[in-house]
Amino acid sequence: MLECKVHGALDLRVGTAPVPEPGPGEVLLRLGAAGICGSDMHYYFHGCVGAFRIREPLTPGHEASAVVAGVGAGVTRVRPGQRVAVNPSRPCGACPGCREGRENLCANMRFLGSASVFPHVQGMFREYFLMPQSQCVPVADSVPLDELAMSEPLAVALHSATRAGSLLGRRVLITGSGTIGCMMVLAVRLAGAAHVSITDVVDHPLSVARQVGADQTIRIDQLLQGTRLSDACGGEPDVAFEVSGAPTALSACMETVRRGGVIVQVGTLPVDGMHMLANQIMARELDLRGSFRFGNVFEQAVNAIAGRRVDVRPVLSGSYRLTQAAAAIERARDKTVSMKVQLVPG
Ligand SMILES: [Zn+2]
Ligand SMILES: [Zn+2]
Repeated sequence: MLECKVHGALDLRVGTAPVPEPGPGEVLLRLGAAGICGSDMHYYFHGCVGAFRIREPLTPGHEASAVVAGVGAGVTRVRPGQRVAVNPSRPCGACPGCREGRENLCANMRFLGSASVFPHVQGMFREYFLMPQSQCVPVADSVPLDELAMSEPLAVALHSATRAGSLLGRRVLITGSGTIGCMMVLAVRLAGAAHVSITDVVDHPLSVARQVGADQTIRIDQLLQGTRLSDACGGEPDVAFEVSGAPTALSACMETVRRGGVIVQVGTLPVDGMHMLANQIMARELDLRGSFRFGNVFEQAVNAIAGRRVDVRPVLSGSYRLTQAAAAIERARDKTVSMKVQLVPG
């Protein structure tokens, strides 16, 4: 079988390996589709994501759908031939975060395709892999594998929406219109938001945001001098989701939400910090909250996609074979043409 390994910056090798045998409780999966995420791109272009540096060859990939190719003893949740979404997080279940029901804050998290622990947890940019049955969520045969592979990014957005509290009837601002920004549009719509504005500095992602249900798309870099972002939004938002990771965008959110508003930080800000007018938090009673990966909403994301209660198709920008992984990652980086690029077997 084929597998991708990143050995270091700009050093991705596609090799072969034997197909593994499932042990007790394990499921052998054949890749359906695997999305290329920002973190996968960071491993490829820089050999690291923030402080997580590649110390041994790493197979990236944490957003995948698959088909069950075999099952080990004692597996009851899935059967061969079934389609599944793979939940890439494996919390320990015993630490204070897990016991509190906030598994995404697990102190001993093993997240697929991540160099956060050593030995690294190998990801899903490969033809076959083993997974505990607990991480396999089965769906009907009619669910397209490319859409199903969007379960993980949708789970990220559902979790962020949950962090904001009730969104019913709320006006929402989202800064950053990439894949997660567009998943955010779908998530807040699902949660009952009344009006959604979204910003970016590139046209293509904004056009996709409109297709998935944004009411107002704003080229933040082209906002006329003297025009306030809240005016461009058609009124002060109650809640802002900062998805871009740009310090200027977080500052804009803090200035734009209404007094007593909520800001959820979803994007990764610079590791060495930023300057911000922190006094706004006190003087305008803002709630600034973090959102990291996702908690127990993965199955909700799978169900929303499987029943097409959200339509992720506008976000899909095509697929490449595993043997073309490097070209696919290059393509995924070009925001003027690509949103979610996926890898498929072969
Ligand atoms: Zn991701
Ligand atoms: Zn834990």
